[in-house]
Amino acid sequence: MDEYYAQIFHTIDVGLVMLDKDLRVQQWSRWMEQHSSIPFHKIIGRPLFDFFPELDHPRFLMNFKMVVKFGNSCFLSQKLNKYLFPFKPAGAFAGEFEYMQQSCAMFPLRDEKNALKYICISVNDVTETVACETRLVEMNVRDGLTGIYNRKFLEAKLTEELDRSKRYGRAFSVIMIDIDHFKKVNDSYGHSFGDTVLKSTASMLQSGLRTTDFLTRYGGEEFCCLLPETECSSAVIVAERMRANAEALALTHGGNPVNISISLGVAGATAADTPSALIVRADEALYTAKKSGRNKVVASQGRAA
Ligand code: GH3
Ligand code: MG
Ligand code: MG
Repeated sequence: MDEYYAQIFHTIDVGLVMLDKDLRVQQWSRWMEQHSSIPFHKIIGRPLFDFFPELDHPRFLMNFKMVVKFGNSCFLSQKLNKYLFPFKPAGAFAGEFEYMQQSCAMFPLRDEKNALKYICISVNDVTETVACETRLVEMNVRDGLTGIYNRKFLEAKLTEELDRSKRYGRAFSVIMIDIDHFKKVNDSYGHSFGDTVLKSTASMLQSGLRTTDFLTRYGGEEFCCLLPETECSSAVIVAERMRANAEALALTHGGNPVNISISLGVAGATAADTPSALIVRADEALYTAKKSGRNKVVASQGRAA
């Protein structure tokens, strides 16, 4: 390699590997040495698969053969492949990702007669970008105060889960939850304590759910819970447990205990329900719970919309 090109090859913040047509390593950049802990002198001239047996799979081989056969470049996007070489991510991302997220490309290198001589693979570490994207997506569907899903998420998920339940004839229920006399909490102890109550209520509600259920903040002091694969009668049991847990929440303000209660309306999806009709039925059941004294669970009678 020309001296200057060699400096670029080894200094650039991109992993570079040159392979011959038999997949033997012909060049191994310093970036690859650092991230793989495989030194140049150990891997040069050796088959790549001796060091990375996981690459010996049809997708990688198909891409490689396409580059050799047609001489075109191919891009292995992180969105499809996550990573090519199983390298550890940078320390800051160790808890979030098992492996460094990589965007890779494979392209031909030709000699002076334009004959394909080597195949080069470039490896870009895109872990930080993927982490930021993941956070942005999360921020877009989460409520800032409580950290649970927001209304926007609820609307999309409700439509998706209702469609799924109708298509496969599966049960699906929703629970509408409203904190009783919450205005009084704010008025008596201040808005900031009201916020604390909202956060504690949200985490109490979340703690009683399965990972397949979705708890969302519907508005101010109202929550909506989606329970896929759940009959109305089972959702009533979940709701009753939530009601009891709210009563038992050990909240204090300035050392004094503060008690809260919640009212809940439950509705099981019917074939005739639209997303808004299902919410209306749960809301009506909640309204009945409020009217009949609060701190109660009421189930919708399941009339078709
Ligand atoms: P009910 O038992 O009939 O539900 O009575 P309520 O007082 O809970 O209902 P109401 O709708 O009259 O009051 C809801 C209150 O919730 C009023 C509003 O200021 C408060 N609220 C809404 N969002 C927030 C919030 O993010 N933080 C705090 N601290 N309060 C909020
Ligand atoms: Mg309300
Ligand atoms: Mg309320």
